Amino acid sequence: MPEKVPRSNDVLAPYFEGEPLDPAEVARAAFTFPAPLRWLGPHTALLELFHGPTAAFKDFGARFLAECLERLGRKATIVVATSGDTGAAVGAAFAGRQGFEVVILYPDGRVSGRQAHQLGAFGGNVRAFKVAGTFDDCQRMAKETLARRPDCTSANSISLGRLLPQLTYYAKTALEVQRQGKGPVSFVVPTGNLGNALACVLVRDMGLPIDRIVLATNANRTLPQFLSSGAYRALPTVATLANAMDVGDPSNLERLLYWHPDPSRVVSADSVDDAAIRETIRRTFDEQGVVVCPHTACGLEVLRRQAAKGTWVVAATAHPAKFETVVEPLIGRTVAPPAALIELLAKPSHAEPLEASTEALLKRLPQH
Ligand SMILES: *Cc1c(COP(=O)(O)O)cnc(C)c1O
Repeated sequence: MPEKVPRSNDVLAPYFEGEPLDPAEVARAAFTFPAPLRWLGPHTALLELFHGPTAAFKDFGARFLAECLERLGRKATIVVATSGDTGAAVGAAFAGRQGFEVVILYPDGRVSGRQAHQLGAFGGNVRAFKVAGTFDDCQRMAKETLARRPDCTSANSISLGRLLPQLTYYAKTALEVQRQGKGPVSFVVPTGNLGNALACVLVRDMGLPIDRIVLATNANRTLPQFLSSGAYRALPTVATLANAMDVGDPSNLERLLYWHPDPSRVVSADSVDDAAIRETIRRTFDEQGVVVCPHTACGLEVLRRQAAKGTWVVAATAHPAKFETVVEPLIGRTVAPPAALIELLAKPSHAEPLEASTEALLKRLPQH
């Protein structure tokens, strides 16, 4: 008998013991798109996590969560506050699924044109509200609504249903690099709320062959400062080119601290400012002919600064065409969006205007 070859979806099994769902089956149904490695050199690769319906890694978590809830026969209104990518991934994942309504709240005028179009283009059971306020207003409205309406549920990155599916692509990569005789692999993960990076830490904790894990933040330096000083201080959020990582008080940090009271023993972190993001996008295109999004650029720059021995993989969190207004002027050419994005952008889009008040939102929600 050949030894049983470990498969990446197997890493989910322990978390579903005694539960009615088969996680490998859920993963097969949810992950209708690949997570390929793109080698930039013999020992450096991008893990492309942007081949899903909304061209960012959040499709993995959102689609897995939706698939779980549907198989469990749940019915719910899902309320999600977003500064862009989360709302799109959750909208796409639940669009057309029986028993679910999605309510997306986004700050009017503060997401990119393409992002706004995407959020309003699902239609049907997915409603987009453009809120006259900030992302923090949207988040407050979502929280207050969840507290008052038991039929409503959240789908933010704290949800284990979104965190766990992310284990699979780190496991797949670790096993693949090991099989090629280049292991153990080290990862650089672009980070905002630590949702994606935490999955990487968990997979290594489970015993998969992973060496170092380095977090790449943008100019929001809360995590690098905490890891180097040991003293936690939430900082006001700064707007950057890698806007999906504009987080001053990462919500998944508590979970990392629960598992690793001294997190500096398991991860390190470095911060990349906008000038270095621009320079990295330009250089990666000039030297390798590869176009990356601003978040992925943070990862590549952090890798460049490491004295990197061994094989390194940078998580490529979004397709560059999602951030075309940043990327295209830097490389002097247009970036063709992936097919799924083109399809969504070709649809009509509609968002309902809403004042930044929970009362106003409650009046617009269906009564159950
Ligand atoms: C959400 C997002 C991130 C940050 O992920 P976290 O899980 O919050 O750390 C990075 N890049 C892109 C493109 C994203 O959409």
